Amino acid sequence: MKHITTLFILIIFALLSCSNTPASQNNNSKAMTDPQHPNNPYYSRTDTAVLNVSNAEWKKVLPDSIYEVARNKDTERPFTGKYWDFEGLGTYYCAVCGNALFRSDSKFGSSCGWPSFFEALRKNSVIYKSDTSYGMSRTEVLCGRCGSHLGHLFDDGPPPTGKRFCMNSIVLDFEPDKHTK
Ligand code: FE
Repeated sequence: MKHITTLFILIIFALLSCSNTPASQNNNSKAMTDPQHPNNPYYSRTDTAVLNVSNAEWKKVLPDSIYEVARNKDTERPFTGKYWDFEGLGTYYCAVCGNALFRSDSKFGSSCGWPSFFEALRKNSVIYKSDTSYGMSRTEVLCGRCGSHLGHLFDDGPPPTGKRFCMNSIVLDFEPDKHTK
């Protein structure tokens, strides 16, 4: 009887020991969402990893107005976007994924009706693609992180590059510099 009692105690002890495994890891893997883009889990101004997200998924997380330009390559009407004549000092980010695209000091007053820049912020901020739609031969500019359509690149820009990145305001997010006078 004594042995059975001892065995019983040992079994109970063993069971309790098993349950004393390291605290279960707090599997808090839910993506942190940007407070200004609560429905878009892919938006990040710090993560530069290239995204491979389907249009079906983008359709779920983007407002229709952004989706139509970014994923369906629509073009906003000239002189209607929020940045075509905007002169704030700061940084322009991709409105789809948060990738840093342009600095305000590369923006110039273009008469075309869309925000225009003479260079991208980083070499890999954007990527380029040949676009022969509408019977024209143009260079399409896409976000280097999410591949969204941003606008087109032309060779009639000002020095020092002679380039004109002709962008759609709707796919840009502007963040003002924090310490501007
Ligand atoms: Fe992007």
